[in-house]
Amino acid sequence: MITDPIQSIGNVPASPLGRPVDAARRQFFRALPKIELHCHLLGAVRRDTFTALARKHGAPITDAEIAAFYARGAKPVGVLRVLRALERHLLLEPDDFRRITHEYLEDAAAESVRHAEFFWNPTATIRDTGLAYGEVQAGILAGIREARADFGISALLIPSIDREAEPSSAVAMVEMMLAHRDPAVAGVGIDYRENDRPPELFLEAYALARRHGLKATAHAGEFGMPWTNVETAVERLKVDRVDHGYTLVDNPDLARRYAERGIVFTIVPTNSYYLRTLEPERWAIDHPIRAMSALGLKLHPNTDDPTLHNVSPAGAWELMYSHLGFDIDALKAMMLNGIDGCWADEERRAAWRATWPGEFDTLALAADRLAGGAAS
Ligand SMILES: [Zn+2]
Repeated sequence: MITDPIQSIGNVPASPLGRPVDAARRQFFRALPKIELHCHLLGAVRRDTFTALARKHGAPITDAEIAAFYARGAKPVGVLRVLRALERHLLLEPDDFRRITHEYLEDAAAESVRHAEFFWNPTATIRDTGLAYGEVQAGILAGIREARADFGISALLIPSIDREAEPSSAVAMVEMMLAHRDPAVAGVGIDYRENDRPPELFLEAYALARRHGLKATAHAGEFGMPWTNVETAVERLKVDRVDHGYTLVDNPDLARRYAERGIVFTIVPTNSYYLRTLEPERWAIDHPIRAMSALGLKLHPNTDDPTLHNVSPAGAWELMYSHLGFDIDALKAMMLNGIDGCWADEERRAAWRATWPGEFDTLALAADRLAGGAAS
């Protein structure tokens, strides 16, 4: 990806930890074999597609608003507001979901994402559009199948609980998943605003999912919400991995225990809470991602809402290197964390573990040579 000369990747501030990224290194970030574990389907809609869907459905959204959604300037429109607009006005037919799934996976595959596990929130879609769960899931799964055939990328869908809705809606969502079981629908997640919506509200939904053999993950410790939410997600919701989890650094003893247990944290270098709340000149230094790593936690970088955050999979990996101070060896470990944390079957994971490290080393060496042997 050639970044806009004015906007940095993810519109993040400059970093005193910064490493230069030349064209060869940028190509390395694009080419390294990747998994994506934390991306919201509605946060990956291309701007052109957003405009086309708005026109197709006569959505009450002006071109100026769409421009603001995608600008991510000094006063970015809240991402959650954009996602709600998509849910209510733009994604009204199963084929809309097929289209955005296929396009998301096309964009991911173009940056060497080999396997993606991504979120979709059924609750508002079902409530606001009148579509049936099974219709939408079928549209998304058609997009996954077509992308596998067209671009070679594999993907799993994670229906995600809308934590702003009632806990009974979460149970209903899991029941819909169980009524439409499909191997490409691997597990359950939870997202939207965490404030006042702690994970313990959703124990019943998670217990139901786990009883039926579904995997589980949860957004926890985002928006500055306390580390106890991370603990509750792990100990009581019994998640297999954690999305974000930043405030776990406020309890270093617990963090070290989760490091020993090998729990994978899907972190997001462009997370808007820290871009908003940390001083720009200290943003990279004080970012909890660095403290999480220092505590030994297994991290894996992701885009979250790529088109809305002006970031791509390659960009997220690049920021870890160019801004957050991680070196090439650390990135290699994160690549392996992605394999450990994903829900693909063990045979494929074993094949990736056997081949990706060598691929990574070859690509890193080529980037070094092209850069004239610059230190990594
Ligand atoms: Zn997220």
